[in-house]
Order: sequence, then structure tokens, then C-alpha cells
Amino acid sequence: MSEHTLIGKTALVTGSTSGIGLGIAQSLARQGANIILNGFGDAEGPKAEVAALGVNVAFHGADMSKPSDIEAMMKFADDTFGGVDILVNNAGIQHVASVEDFPVERWDAIIAINLTSAFHTSRLALPYMQKQNWGRIINVASVHGLVGSAQKSAYVAAKHGIVGLTKVTALENATTGVTCNAICPGWVLTPLVQKQVDAKAAALHISNGEAIKLLLGEKEPSSQFTTPEELGELAVFFCSKAANNVRGVAWNMDGGWTAQ
Ligand code: NAD
Repeated sequence: MSEHTLIGKTALVTGSTSGIGLGIAQSLARQGANIILNGFGDAEGPKAEVAALGVNVAFHGADMSKPSDIEAMMKFADDTFGGVDILVNNAGIQHVASVEDFPVERWDAIIAINLTSAFHTSRLALPYMQKQNWGRIINVASVHGLVGSAQKSAYVAAKHGIVGLTKVTALENATTGVTCNAICPGWVLTPLVQKQVDAKAAALHISNGEAIKLLLGEKEPSSQFTTPEELGELAVFFCSKAANNVRGVAWNMDGGWTAQ
């Protein structure tokens, strides 16, 4: 991919203080896009990492479960950079329990953060993109947007939902320069997955390394994690000219998980 193809564009990546979101923000910054970061925890470290790539960086700490926070963040984006050209809906959380034991509050939080937030950011970003006749919405779904796994009802429901939202957003803008696509990773070793590794290691009294081997072995034929950098490069492709007519896809990067 040639460098600096996104100079003059602004990308907002939700949930980008960590993991996949930070990786995607860095890949877009390497192409010259100005970046708005969002998420919880330390913001100064991620801001410095992205700024080191030579682009303008801003941060907004909106809680993606709160529509009023999302509205404030989108207004901040307009005020700071004039609008959002590339929207990456990435913020997400996980909780693992059977349906009958699933805490109602966790269900509501997962649906709000992993699904409904993307509706709010998209509805607020689209008018500017349509006016420019150029825009990219990239929804970070999951293999769980395509297939299910036991114990992950809310997550699988939200991720199937965001794949549906991706298709409808793509269709409604199909005759314009605005595209919408989803990325569906398999296992990526981020804090979200490390918690699941730790739980497995504790439950089975095994080491971290053995728990990782088991986790990958259950679902992922390549026995390898996908990396945030690889996902970032897929996001860059979706932003490229070559992807002008890629619309409404749910593109898995999953080591063969969903090929089985
Ligand atoms: P992560 O825990 O490393 O990062 C999640 C990010 O979201 C963090 O920046 C966190 O601060 C932010 N966040 C959480 N709740 C928020 C809220 N209410 N408001 C604003 N920000 C919030 O996790 P990750 O693995 O990088 O996950 C990123 C996305 O990728 C998620 O949507 C996840 O479902 C998806 N995904 C992850 C994997 C994986 O294996 N790690 C696989 C498929 C899909």
C-alpha cells in the first residue's frame, strides 16, 4: 500500500486507547489521516504514539453507551477537524455466561456499546460524508457476527446486528462515494481476550501459554492470532480507491475459523 493516501482526511476511531482500535488508528495515521481517539484509561500514551506518526491527534472520552456523550463527541469532531471522513466503530466489551445466568445489566451494556453506539455515530457522521460525496464507515464486528459461540449471547447478538447495520448503511449509500464495510476478526491478543485466557488458565489450573494454545486450538485452524496491525491494513484498504465499490461486506480475518 503506498504511503500517505489519506492526507487531508480525518478518522474517528472509537475504543482506540487500546488493542485493535489503536492499531487501526496507527495504520490510518501512517497514511496521513488526522485521528480522533476515544476510549477509557490512559489517553496520553496512545495520543503520543499516534502523534509520533506526524499527524494531528485529538481525544474525546465519550462513553459509547451514552447517546448524549456520542453527540458531544461528534460535535467535537466537527469543531476540531470540520467533520469525520472515516468512521471506525470499534469500541466493544465482552461478557461470558450462559443465557439463563447472563446479568441483565451486562446484556444492556454490550448491546449499547457494541451495536447501538455504531448507529449513533453513523447517523451523525453520514450527512457530512454525503455532502462531501466521500466517506468510509468501517464497523469492527467479529467472527461472532457470522457464527455463534456458546456463552456469548449478547456479544454474538450485537455482532450479528452490526453486520446487518453495515449492509443497510452500504445499501442506502450505494450510489454515492460513501461506503460501509465490516471487519470480522478471529482471535486477537488484546486486553479483551487476555481476560478470557486468564479465566481459562485459572479454571483449568494451566499456564497462560497452555490456555492460549487451547483457545486457538478450539476455533482457529491457523493456530495464530490476527494482529491489530493486520486489521489496520485491511481498514486502509477499505479507505483506498481500489475499494470504491466494496460495499456491505463482512470481511473475516480469522485464520480459517469461519471456513470450517
Ligand atoms: P480492548 O479491550 O483492547 O479495547 C476496547 C476499547 O474500547 C478500549 O479502548 C476501551 O477503552 C474502549 N471502550 C470500552 N468500553 C467503552 C465505552 N463504554 N466507551 C468508550 N470506549 C469504550 O478490546 P479489543 O480486543 O481491541 O476490541 C476492539 C473491538 O474488536 C471490539 O469491538 C471487539 O468486539 C472486536 N473484536 C475483538 C476480537 C479479539 O479477539 N480481541 C475479535 C473480534 C472482534
